[in-house]
Amino acid sequence: MYDTILVPTDDSEPAGEAVDHGIDLAASCDATLHVLSVVDSSAYASLDVSSEQALDELEARAEAATGEIAETAAEAGIEAVTTVSIGTPHEQITDYAEAVDVDLIVMGTHGRTGLDRFLLGSVTERVVRAAPAPVLTVRATES
Ligand code: ATP
Ligand code: MN
Repeated sequence: MYDTILVPTDDSEPAGEAVDHGIDLAASCDATLHVLSVVDSSAYASLDVSSEQALDELEARAEAATGEIAETAAEAGIEAVTTVSIGTPHEQITDYAEAVDVDLIVMGTHGRTGLDRFLLGSVTERVVRAAPAPVLTVRATES
């Protein structure tokens, strides 16, 4: 039923729990796992030299994080495709889901900011509203 599963990650702990769930699910469905990390460009609207370096650094970190997830997936016998993009996270996630025609998106209820007073983080809320596929949200357990 789920042949192509997308797990977006901001390399946070809550996202990590969603990623683990996505890997388990991909394994049980024999699905291909797509891992997408978006470097948020809104913080870098007016690029100068120093922030361009910061952007490179963020891209490198996102590449390392998605690469690690792909390795974990490979150990579980799952084929994984990793992508790092720059832009507005919720737009990039829904555009990717549409372009690749994913069957399911698995993401955390929260991410880096992780404010508990909101039911959902803003990225997840917007993806749930606009996604072309069902969204499975994973609530992080308190640690
Ligand atoms: P907010 O960003 O609204 O202040 P938050 O950081 O707690 O709150 P979200 O950003 O919505 O919550 O994160 C929820 C989930 O969305 C994460 O677990 C992750 O799956 C996904 N996500 C968030 N940001 C990104 C990103 N930049 N790239 C890929 N996935 C992301
Ligand atoms: Mn966030």
